[in-house]
This record gives sequence, C-alpha cells and structure tokens, in this order.
Amino acid sequence: MNKKPFERPVIKKVTAGMPSKFGLQVHHEPITEIDGVPVQSLLDQFGSPLFIYSEKTIRNTYKEAYRAFSSRYPNVLFSWSYKTNYLNAICNTFHQEGSWAEVVSGFEYKKALANGVKGDQIIFNGPQKTRNDLLLAVKNESLIHIDHFDELYELIEISKESDFKPKVAIRINMDIGIYPAWDRFGFNYENGEAWDALNRIMHCKTLELTGLHTHIGTYIMSAEPYKVAATKMSDLALGLARKYNHHILYIDMGGGFASKNTLKGGYYPGTDTTPSFDDYAEAIVSVLMKAEFQPDHLPLLILETGRALIDDAGYLAGTVVANKRLADGQRASILDAGVNLLFTSFWYDHDIRPAKPMSDQTEETAIFFLFFMNIDVIRKNTIFPLLKKGDPFVIQRVGAYNNTQWMQFITMRPNVVLIDMNSDVHVIRKEETVDTMNQLEATPEHLKVF
Ligand SMILES: *Cc1c(COP(=O)(O)O)cnc(C)c1O
Repeated sequence: MNKKPFERPVIKKVTAGMPSKFGLQVHHEPITEIDGVPVQSLLDQFGSPLFIYSEKTIRNTYKEAYRAFSSRYPNVLFSWSYKTNYLNAICNTFHQEGSWAEVVSGFEYKKALANGVKGDQIIFNGPQKTRNDLLLAVKNESLIHIDHFDELYELIEISKESDFKPKVAIRINMDIGIYPAWDRFGFNYENGEAWDALNRIMHCKTLELTGLHTHIGTYIMSAEPYKVAATKMSDLALGLARKYNHHILYIDMGGGFASKNTLKGGYYPGTDTTPSFDDYAEAIVSVLMKAEFQPDHLPLLILETGRALIDDAGYLAGTVVANKRLADGQRASILDAGVNLLFTSFWYDHDIRPAKPMSDQTEETAIFFLFFMNIDVIRKNTIFPLLKKGDPFVIQRVGAYNNTQWMQFITMRPNVVLIDMNSDVHVIRKEETVDTMNQLEATPEHLKVF
C-alpha cells in the first residue's frame, strides 16, 4: 500500500445540505476520464496543457437543441457561429449534423468555403465586410446580412454591375428590455431605421430581400427577451407582406443562449439557472406561431446558437506547476494553463476539478498561471482540494470562444484533441512550436549578425 500523503490540519466551515447565505455546498468530484479516456493518459500522450473535445457531447447537445425547436416548429435550421469555435473538425461536426455556416468576417467566410460549405449555405454577418468579401459572397449566392446603410449602398452598387441578384437580409437591433441596449450592430427597430432600410431594399430591383436577422446579445440569461425580439421581427415581416405582398423566406433569431457556465459573482451555479433549449424554443416559437403568417408563408426559423452548443463539449486539462503561500498566507496554485488559453475566465467562475481522486480536504486557494501579471488569475479565491505539484486538473465547459480568442504570450498554444464516438483520440490542431512562430517573421540581413 502506498503511503498516504501528509495533509496539515486546517479549520474550515462545515457546509452541508441546503444553500445558505454563505453559498452552496462545494463539491469537487474529480474528472478522471472524458468519454472513457483517462485524462492522465491524454496528458501523457499529447502534452500538458491540452484542450479536449468530446464529439459525443457536441452531437448530443446539437440534437437536444434541434429537437427543442423542430418539435415545436415545422421549419428550423441551425447555422454554426464560426467565431464561437472555428476549429475545422468542430465546424464540420456541426455541418454533418445539418448546420449551415454563420460567419462575421472575410477570414471566417473563406474558412467555411475551405471546409466545403456551399456558398448558398453561408450566412455572412458583421459590420466590416470588404468590397472583395461582398463580391465573393454575391458570386457564391451567400446570404448577406446587411449591417448599415453604407453597406446597403455598396451592395446596391455591386448588384447593378453584377449578373447575380444578391440575396440580402438586414440585421435589426431593438429594445428587448436589457440595458445598456446593444445598438452597435444593424438597423434600429424602434426609431424606424429598420423599416426605412427594408423599404429602400424593396424599391431596389437588383436586390432580393430573403430574410430578417437579429442577434440580441450573448449569454442571455432569460428566455423572455427572445419573445420580445420575435414579436418585433414578426411585425416587420408582416409589414412587408401587407405593403408589398412580399413574403420573406426566413427569420434568423441569432445566437445568445446562455451556456451552463457560472458568471463571475453569480450566486447559483449556471447549471441551475441557465434556461433550457426548450425554454428558449418555447419563447420564440410561441410568438411566431401566433403571429399572422399564412401557413404557406410561415418563415424558416434560423438559429445561430454558438456558446450553448459547444461550451460543454470542451475541456482544458493541465498540471499543477507549484503551490505557494501569498504574503497574507493564502494558498495559491500555479497551473500550466491560464488566461492566455482561457479568455472566458474574464467572465466566468470556471469549474476546475482534480483529474484524480483526492481527499475531502480543501482550502481557499487562488489559482494562477505563470504570467506573473495580476490579471492572470483564473480564480481569485475558490475552495479547492489540495492538489500537489504534478497533479492533473481539468477545467470543464471551455468549448466556446477560447480556441478563437486564445493568445500566444510567453508560451505557445498546445495540442487540441477530439475524442470521437468510438473513444478514439485525434489531434485536431497541432501544438505550436518555435518554428511555427518564426515562420511568420523575417529578420533584415543587417540584423542577422551581432
Ligand atoms: C457571436 C454571434 C453568434 C453566436 O452567439 P452565441 O452567444 O455564442 O450564441 C451568432 N450570431 C452572430 C451575428 C454573432 O455575432
């Protein structure tokens, strides 16, 4: 039998049973394996730290979301939000499930094309499409969601010289009862700008108005705002039917559903407070079904859900580098992964777990990465088991936005692996090396020697 490690005695508050004003009982169930693959063996084989995705979780989450909407509404389509996670293997999993692509830049647009998405199944959003981006999207018959009047005028110009009739929608922003209002993108509903833009398009013979789009925000913690948004979207669509006898093909409600992560300062964990896909679906569909659409003109419902579809499928595993005491005596753990890889730790109280069974002993701990900067704190103060140098840990629910917003600072970005449906493991993005970095640089001749 192995000798048990010594753990010094500490005094701690007993938290048992129901939540009290001090918060919830703290559990630290270890995550020793993901889809049947031991975390430690993944770290041994692919290095530490390591991003790990579960194909099974992606597909199950997608199916759950799709079922929530398609069981309530006859015509539903999801379009994968590339900026949430544009690792090709992840995008293609969604494409295999039937998702189109939703992109917000020329770079993402080209990534979707390179993945083999058909041009007419790409939704092109965002305020900064270049003229070349627009020309390409028009030629490929993509769905162009116009953000502002300058873009509308440019598209009208392009369309007059083009053999193709651009398929367009406008993005609409609106008051949904969340403040400050998100009015940076699109045309405003309340001040009539959106209706102006729609009229402008209807009077333009060279554009084809196919849909209406909104994206009301991100991590919307209640389904209610979607009701308000769906009401205003229906209103505009019905206005077009009345005035022009023009029936738009789709209403795109954007993304924004909350994932099960817990926002910083949240009292209850996200797993308890986040609305379900059914809640969101009920809010949106109940409005669309009751609106005055004729049955043969019921628009297709498009959703651009990002975060809520991928967060749960991603894990960041790593290793404890060292433990130390801060000047005030607080315990601190230094990990080999931090905010460089985990942009979302600015917003979330991430759920960090040991990756091997631990004793019940815990202590308030600050969790750092090796940035040596004060912003570099994953958790300032969390009740944490006494992990030792070399112990593995897992941070769960990191699938959204981290592999698109991660940064290369001091160290390089690690391997990303996908565990497939048979529990086989595939590298889907190779770790960066010094060569990866140096390939992009050029040193002028006169600076090569010193
Ligand atoms: C970012 C974005 C999404 C995805 O948002 P989530 O909050 O991740 O669901 C969808 N549509 C547009 C236009 C976006 O910019």
